[in-house]
Amino acid sequence: MKGETPLSAVRGQDRAIARLREILSGGLRSGAILLWGPEGVGKQTATLALARQILCSGPGDTAPCGHCFSCRTALSNHPDFHVLEPGETQSIGIDSVRELLRQTLEAPLVSPVRIALLDEVHRLTPEASNSLLKSLEEPSENLLFFLLSPSPDRLLPTLLSRLLKVRFSPLSDGDLTAIVRECRPGSPPEELEKAVTLSGGSAGRLLTLVDSPLSDPLSRVATFLGALGPRGRIDFAAVAEAFPVLAEKEGFDIFLDAFERLLLSAERVAGGLSPLPEWRESALPALYAHEGPDFLRGSLHDKIGEMRRISVHNINRGLALEQFLGWIGEIFSPKGSDK
Ligand SMILES: [Zn+2]
Repeated sequence: MKGETPLSAVRGQDRAIARLREILSGGLRSGAILLWGPEGVGKQTATLALARQILCSGPGDTAPCGHCFSCRTALSNHPDFHVLEPGETQSIGIDSVRELLRQTLEAPLVSPVRIALLDEVHRLTPEASNSLLKSLEEPSENLLFFLLSPSPDRLLPTLLSRLLKVRFSPLSDGDLTAIVRECRPGSPPEELEKAVTLSGGSAGRLLTLVDSPLSDPLSRVATFLGALGPRGRIDFAAVAEAFPVLAEKEGFDIFLDAFERLLLSAERVAGGLSPLPEWRESALPALYAHEGPDFLRGSLHDKIGEMRRISVHNINRGLALEQFLGWIGEIFSPKGSDK
């Protein structure tokens, strides 16, 4: 769990914050709110800030009073604040959800409501989802759920239909730059610019990029794109030559990360959030951003996730990559382009 930032300091999410304030202004005391959007754009920070405000038992409802028992207690020790996150298994199982529901059964101890934060809620197992759903169908008074996820499409539709949804957008280049200047004041401007381009609008990813040597993943992606023919035709020999390290887990993971960042970056350009970066000559990201219908984008990110899971096991990564690129070539090759 991160440190706390006041709601007013959450950057680049004015619309999402306004929507959250609107939902809560009616004195909402039970039910569930889904905050969805890319990783690292402020969903958790905003939830923690809101929790502070809602848990405060002092006067006023626009900011925490700072003096009541609740405000003086760290969220991690707060008796009415509960957090559930995926464990080492990368999933949230039914036992954890049952335990959470048991803990939140009683009336709040010090605050007007209890708050339960479920992070990466797409990682709920189907049994855990159903258990949570049952609880939402008969909502307890004075219990508010905040559910966070970058992939709401992976939630059970029945669960999704019970949630108030608030979208968090990828951050603009200006916000990203401001965040890095704040968190990593010494970053050289030219490195920063490259990192912003590859961050996919995520401050979390951006900070990781700034902290790791950039030139390596960047040049690998550039080589990869060079190996992509027009309109998604892929020269496997060139790819294999460009990525001799892909057979190893580390190289494979770097590739997947860099590739996904590139796609997200393309999507941001298409959405007018970012100027045109270096990949403009390459067919695939442009196709992805401009012509790829949403479901195609979703399935591409799912496929990348699948490759990541594959990468955990000791499999033939070269073969997996070839199949992956073949799949990409197929879905992004428009009909009639084989002339
Ligand atoms: Zn207070």
